[in-house]
Amino acid sequence: MAPVAGFFLHFYQPPRENPWLGLVPNEWGAWPFRDWNERITEECYRAMIAVVLPRDDDGGTELLEPLTRSGFDIGPTLHRWLERRAPDVDRALAHQVTHAAAPASSLAIAAPFVHAILPLAHARDRDRLVAWGIADYVRRFGEAPRGMWLPETGVDLETLEALARQGIEFTILMPTQAVQVRDPDGEWHHVDQHSLDTSRPYMVRLGEGRTITVVFGHGDLSQRVAFDGLIDDGERLADTMVGALSTEGDGAVLLVADGETYGHHHRFGDLGLASVVRRIQRHYGIETSLGEWLRTQEPTFEVELAAVSAWSCAHGVERWRSECGCVTGGQDGWRQEWRKPLREALDWLRDALSDAIDAELARYVGSPDDTLRDYGGVLAGALGPVQFVEDHAASPLDAEATSTVLELCEIYRNLLCCFTSCAWFFADPAEIETTISLRHAAVAIEHGARTLGLDLEPEFTRRLRDVHSNHEGVDGAVLWRRASERYRFDEGLIAAGFAAEHLAAEHRARRERGSWHVEIEPSLAGDEENTLLMALTHTPTLRRRVFLTRTERTGPLSARVQVRSVENEAWVTFDLGDLGADVVARVATSWLVEPGSSDYEAALNLLVAELLAQRVGGDDAAVLVALAGAQRWVTPAGEVSIRRALLALTSQGDQAVDLEILAPLARAVGLADLVGGS
Ligand SMILES: [Zn+2]
Repeated sequence: MAPVAGFFLHFYQPPRENPWLGLVPNEWGAWPFRDWNERITEECYRAMIAVVLPRDDDGGTELLEPLTRSGFDIGPTLHRWLERRAPDVDRALAHQVTHAAAPASSLAIAAPFVHAILPLAHARDRDRLVAWGIADYVRRFGEAPRGMWLPETGVDLETLEALARQGIEFTILMPTQAVQVRDPDGEWHHVDQHSLDTSRPYMVRLGEGRTITVVFGHGDLSQRVAFDGLIDDGERLADTMVGALSTEGDGAVLLVADGETYGHHHRFGDLGLASVVRRIQRHYGIETSLGEWLRTQEPTFEVELAAVSAWSCAHGVERWRSECGCVTGGQDGWRQEWRKPLREALDWLRDALSDAIDAELARYVGSPDDTLRDYGGVLAGALGPVQFVEDHAASPLDAEATSTVLELCEIYRNLLCCFTSCAWFFADPAEIETTISLRHAAVAIEHGARTLGLDLEPEFTRRLRDVHSNHEGVDGAVLWRRASERYRFDEGLIAAGFAAEHLAAEHRARRERGSWHVEIEPSLAGDEENTLLMALTHTPTLRRRVFLTRTERTGPLSARVQVRSVENEAWVTFDLGDLGADVVARVATSWLVEPGSSDYEAALNLLVAELLAQRVGGDDAAVLVALAGAQRWVTPAGEVSIRRALLALTSQGDQAVDLEILAPLARAVGLADLVGGS
């Protein structure tokens, strides 16, 4: 029996993808990075994969892989993004975990698919969130998870039951969540966060003879590593952790914090963590991985938890449904009365949609419940969508019915995404985290109208009127409308975007764009130049529609696209600037540099030269914003180009430049006064 002194890291970001498009939009607050995922990946996730430390003895350096010596979970929505946008991080991590001395389940634990407060979730949603999280884990790590992280460590007995029923053996909580413990002699003792002995694992008794193990993080050290910069001096922290080990010889000191603490919240915290792990292992010869230690432990103490609790709220889980007083950010006088009506509006939406989804699914599949539960396998990439529908269909289904089943599953997924805990976490509902949640609600409502014939928008927005933003001085219905404005994509807009790229780059136009796939059909209208016939497939639902487009270049950096579906005679017209920043950037770069180029920085320099030399055209503001946001991050030289371009655009006073489009970028580069802001 040996002790353990180490870290548990909870890695998570909300699902930042625009749910209509499947790509993350620019988040100018993350400047000079294009969005928060990119920024935090650079500062933390990529940094934590391999850390270079000076060697103790000879002045050289060595490479450490601290995650293979720790415990961690990665929220499935974040892991999906890493797989697509930071494959180096995803693959390096997978390689490290599968080649580590310990099995994957000793290092990584699972997490529910959506970062929802499970005690506040509907029981059937909770079961599916757990099932989807397990499916994601199994596909990534090749074995069943032993542990599961609970978002915000939000827990009650029903939540633990849901975990145990699905084979989860342990979870990690904080000492504030324990009420009393029973020693092996059967005596119960009241405990608080200071008196709870966190050096041993505990057992929680559940129904039907089931139990689950709970490991508690070290309260004081976990708190100080997250909020006091304890990680700045790794050697000293290692000594402190070892000093905190009990004298009995096989206890635990576990520092539990958000993984983003190391490198993102605390600059160079990745170095600090790696040096702690190195010193504990080499100098003290002590195990640092929770999972390996837990394999040697059989809990003999029982714990009774608070009826419902979480690590970042002192009032149960009120933080995610009422104005309990716990808040992050904000200003004097701000209120959080908005939390309750937001929760109630989304609960109402869930009830209205869930029953309708179940009823409609029952027309096609044997068991709606099994179908929705197993959809996690599709989301994890373990199962193709067609196979999934075949497995559950009550009788063979045609392509149309297959897409309908998949659409119902996608409505349900968007509905669950509304409940990410971050929507309630911060001081104001105008923050980006609540906006993300409202966007998913908009997609669920929109697709619910199309697939289920439900008109839920009037009642939902009526309920949102009780949500009030401190920051923007508007109600939730306005926030909901703003959350969707300029983010809503329909098939016609996607088809038009492809046509514009094809006009500029021909066969180098993207066939894959977020959740969409395009194939050019042999043209029916081949006699007409710049006319395309294309089949558009929404990849999650396999819904396929055929569109006809006509394109015309209308200026140095502008274009007009007309689109119509083959079933509909009416043409709809778009300007380049309407088609989405990613399309604008690719089209402009094709024209400025060369067809198909993705050298956005070169395009930016050429744009500046043109703007300084000539008058501006219609879409120039949109082009500048798109180019500024196209790269993972903008270099200092690129930032200089952006400032010059902004000056050129806004100095030509008689031209109609869209200042509203330019404002977020101008603020990001410190030129808010150019667009009349501060
Ligand atoms: Zn609270």
